[in-house]
Amino acid sequence: MGRVEGKVALITGGARGIGASAARLLVAEGAKVMVADVLDVEGKALALELGPAAAFVSLDVTDRSAWSAAVAATTEAFGGLDVLVNNAGISDFGPLADYPDEAWDKIIGINLTGVFNGCKAALPALRASERNPSIVNISSTAGLQGYPALSGYVASKWAVRGLTKALAVELGPENIRVNSIHPGAVATDMTSGLDLPQKHVALKRIGLPDEIGHLVVYLSSDESTFSTGAEFVADGGELAGLPA
Ligand code: NAD
Repeated sequence: MGRVEGKVALITGGARGIGASAARLLVAEGAKVMVADVLDVEGKALALELGPAAAFVSLDVTDRSAWSAAVAATTEAFGGLDVLVNNAGISDFGPLADYPDEAWDKIIGINLTGVFNGCKAALPALRASERNPSIVNISSTAGLQGYPALSGYVASKWAVRGLTKALAVELGPENIRVNSIHPGAVATDMTSGLDLPQKHVALKRIGLPDEIGHLVVYLSSDESTFSTGAEFVADGGELAGLPA
């Protein structure tokens, strides 16, 4: 028996990076996975690689009608929905004085409102689940502390952490768990252009997507049934303190 045998998960931003890692690990542990992304080519290729336990649906998380269709496609393909992984996200940089208003609207739209849209669209299906439903929201260490020239990203990730708490308290009585994951810097397309020596981090290195994907599996599984509204940090010790 896999650790998530029989569960059905929908992962946003699942075509690459942390989302693709979570999709692979969930399938390896017995889940059915709907990969949802704006990257149709990459998403379809991943679903093909994973075989009959996976499928792809084109989804822009800011599009509410597309969300209804994505949830319906998941329940039609796999008979229900037990796990929602709100992973899709973007990052951008810029000091406040130069940070365009449009950039703020865009990042809040994807990183925060996209998560709200997903939780709301998936709620009826999660309520119908009899397999300990779980929402996993990918925040960041930027949801636990500030970084300079990163106001939109930091604000969106703190808000995801707050939304997670509100929904955990609201939905806990229905046995729907809602937790947030807070990765430090991870080697994906999002960070590929950045110089990240990570000398300030206890483990002195950048993380790998699977090191976050394994946390997604844990929070999707029945190993985590007493955790809700909690913050799961995987940051190589970045938040533990300053280096010697
Ligand atoms: P990535 O850029 O490799 O993957 C992000 C995915 O989200 C892509 O497949 C992209 O197409 C998708 N996406 C973007 N906008 C979308 C939209 N509107 N609708 C649907 N899909 C959309 O980056 P990643 O590092 O794998 O990031 C995954 C999550 O992890 C993000 O929420 C990110 O903020 C978070 N995170 C990443 C790091 C890091 O260092 N890589 C650190 C902390 C948190």
